[in-house]
Amino acid sequence: MSTETVFVTGATGFIAQHIVKQLIEKGYKTIGSVRSNEKGENLKSLIKQAGLDSKLFSYVVVPDIIKKESFDKVFEENPEITVVLHTASPVDFSVKDVQKGLVDPAVIGTKNILSSAQQHKNIKHLVITSSTATVQDTTGNRPSTELVTEKSWNPITHDDLKSPSDGQLGYSLSKTLAGKEVVKFFENSNPHFTITSVLPTYVFGPQAFEVKDPNQLNHSAEIVNQVLKSKPGDTLPEQVGTFIDVRDVAHAHLKAFEIADKTNGKRLVTANTYWTNPLIAHIINKNFPDLKIAKGSIELSDKEIKDKGQKFDFSATREILGFDYVPLEKSVVDSVKQILATK
Ligand code: NAP
Repeated sequence: MSTETVFVTGATGFIAQHIVKQLIEKGYKTIGSVRSNEKGENLKSLIKQAGLDSKLFSYVVVPDIIKKESFDKVFEENPEITVVLHTASPVDFSVKDVQKGLVDPAVIGTKNILSSAQQHKNIKHLVITSSTATVQDTTGNRPSTELVTEKSWNPITHDDLKSPSDGQLGYSLSKTLAGKEVVKFFENSNPHFTITSVLPTYVFGPQAFEVKDPNQLNHSAEIVNQVLKSKPGDTLPEQVGTFIDVRDVAHAHLKAFEIADKTNGKRLVTANTYWTNPLIAHIINKNFPDLKIAKGSIELSDKEIKDKGQKFDFSATREILGFDYVPLEKSVVDSVKQILATK
């Protein structure tokens, strides 16, 4: 068993559940923050059902990361915590008020975990879940010839929001402003712990534990689910992006602190190959020929080629992480198998 005790915020989340699973599998004592006792008990039973060593897992209730005292109390009551993985942040594009619903929890939540960790001398490593929305220009203002790397920043500001309920841009803004707080803290506050950010792109792949309601997956997993729910003859939305499998994102969070001498102060961008909805449909049709869904295609439409936009190079991250990513086909197939098994 490992001597580190790891605290995972937002432990009920899609990515966090995989992190919790991988931590327990590696023998880390794991404490997750959840928003209610009910959610904590539910997660505990999922861990047990999965045959994992549930004695390694416990939870604390943190109803809202925006409250300053939440993390202070956790660290005071659990002085054995040496590693903190801060994943909690709202991923909800339908909020009515971007500032309250997205920006405040992302930014204030991040500032809270940073300052609480600074008060708790036992903490050795902090990993923050950021997003590729902080490196790519989601406003469309940057010339697409510019190469995007781990050092790039989304130029987005509050002025780019089309309305106070502009959830798409509001999410990018929330993650970008939170990411900048991390850099500011790292540069100015002389932390006694290492700080690494993990920046996933669209995260696909199966849920870590049993799926109770396949109609209600988290935002990114729902992209594959929507294609699965399509009917023959449907036109799939034209959208293009890179993806990363959720198991790789979780793995990157573990690596981020396990090899902190190589990751300290870095932004690790986890992005694999491109996806489009017709490409996902092509994979589903190929692997599940009895399902009747929309027609797939491996070709990009003219719009998708245009929207592919900026070029990127995240090879520095791949070199540091040093493991192979799960390909799109496996990610989609595993997701579909899991969804079909719950129907
Ligand atoms: P998720 O399933 O919606 O998980 C988000 C977690 O954060 C949930 O446990 C949620 O709790 C918790 N949370 C949200 N707001 C909170 C608040 N104010 N106080 C306390 N807890 C709060 O989303 P996910 O996809 O796993 O995302 C996890 C992290 O990865 C986020 O930081 C997100 O920005 C980042 N990310 C995700 C993707 C993606 O494609 N999925 C891509 C890039 C980055 P409840 O569910 O109980 O509300």
